[in-house]
Amino acid sequence: MKKSAVYFTTFRTTYTENRTQKLQRLLKRAGIESIDFRHKLVAIKMHFGERGNLAFIRPNYARAVVELVKSLGGKPFLTDCNTLYVGGRGNTVDHLETADLNGFTPLTVGCHVIIADGLKGMDEVLVPVPNGKYVKEAKIGRTIMEADVLLTLTHFKGHEAMGIGGAVKNIGMGCGSRGGKLEMHSDGKPYVDPETCIGCGMCLKVCAHGALAMASRKMTINRGVCAGCGRCVGVCPKGALMPQWGEQGFSVLDYKTAEYALAVVTGRPHFHISLISDVSPNCDCHAENDAAVVPDIGMLASFDPVALDLACADLCQRAPRLHGTVLDEVEEDGDLFDSIHPTTHWRDAMEHAVEIGLGSDRYDLITI
Ligand code: SF4
Ligand code: SF4
Repeated sequence: MKKSAVYFTTFRTTYTENRTQKLQRLLKRAGIESIDFRHKLVAIKMHFGERGNLAFIRPNYARAVVELVKSLGGKPFLTDCNTLYVGGRGNTVDHLETADLNGFTPLTVGCHVIIADGLKGMDEVLVPVPNGKYVKEAKIGRTIMEADVLLTLTHFKGHEAMGIGGAVKNIGMGCGSRGGKLEMHSDGKPYVDPETCIGCGMCLKVCAHGALAMASRKMTINRGVCAGCGRCVGVCPKGALMPQWGEQGFSVLDYKTAEYALAVVTGRPHFHISLISDVSPNCDCHAENDAAVVPDIGMLASFDPVALDLACADLCQRAPRLHGTVLDEVEEDGDLFDSIHPTTHWRDAMEHAVEIGLGSDRYDLITI
């Protein structure tokens, strides 16, 4: 397989170039200017961080990307899709408020923030997956699919389900609508946790398929009738309706996420940026971020999201491990991310992504 180029620079600065300027230089060196941005709507997919989390990428970096895209004639906007879980990003109103709280406003980032899958995570486009083995049609947030160009700006870190939270996860899982996220996490149909359900009946009101029924003040679901739309998941105040995490094992989640990512990028220009800073053990979806497990390493960019993730993971593996962190509480083996989340298999997503043609597992790291 052909090697992909991944461009890298550290966070070191000089008196004449600050970090955001250095990021812009990195992106130019990595070839972003070869994309025709003129008059194009440019989705910059990122994660605005859950409320309370402080590990997400600072808005200042997003502004640097936005300004560069504008200087090249593009019309950028920052975007993400709503979450499955109950939290600060489960619908567009909460999501935009959370983005505001974390500093992502038009004033700070220089462009609009648009949540891609509508008010309740239902506004999706069915996108065929080329070579899809687990998913034939990915359910992707409409706004992301309508954009002419896709850029991703990813905080590289650990992840509780995928081992690593990198570009492939940002694209695949992150661009899925509520129904899409359900499909990646399980067979697309939720389960009711009877311990958590308080019998409020909210979910019953929104199910258009008659799949829900109350019995002894607990909701029950007829999975034979359920259409997997995810609407009930979004309204449950207790988070009692959820995919069965790990039902098919995290590897299937990895494979489906890679297939979703392929659906998102196929057929239009795309380019990916990752920052290895505040490498927390878990996703920015967590309302807290535990201490970083390796020192801040640097900024990377590539046209290949798989090679980019592999380069980020390799740099983290080679970095000194920080103690006084979760690493003191786990059994460390050779792989940093497997040590933190032993039930995950981050390489499975990478291997499947290579197999289906999303990217290469061979790369040249070009340091500037
Ligand atoms: S996922 Fe949709 S169809 Fe299934 S129970 Fe929930 S609301 Fe009804
Ligand atoms: S919305 Fe949630 S808590 Fe309320 S009945 Fe449905 S599953 Fe139970």
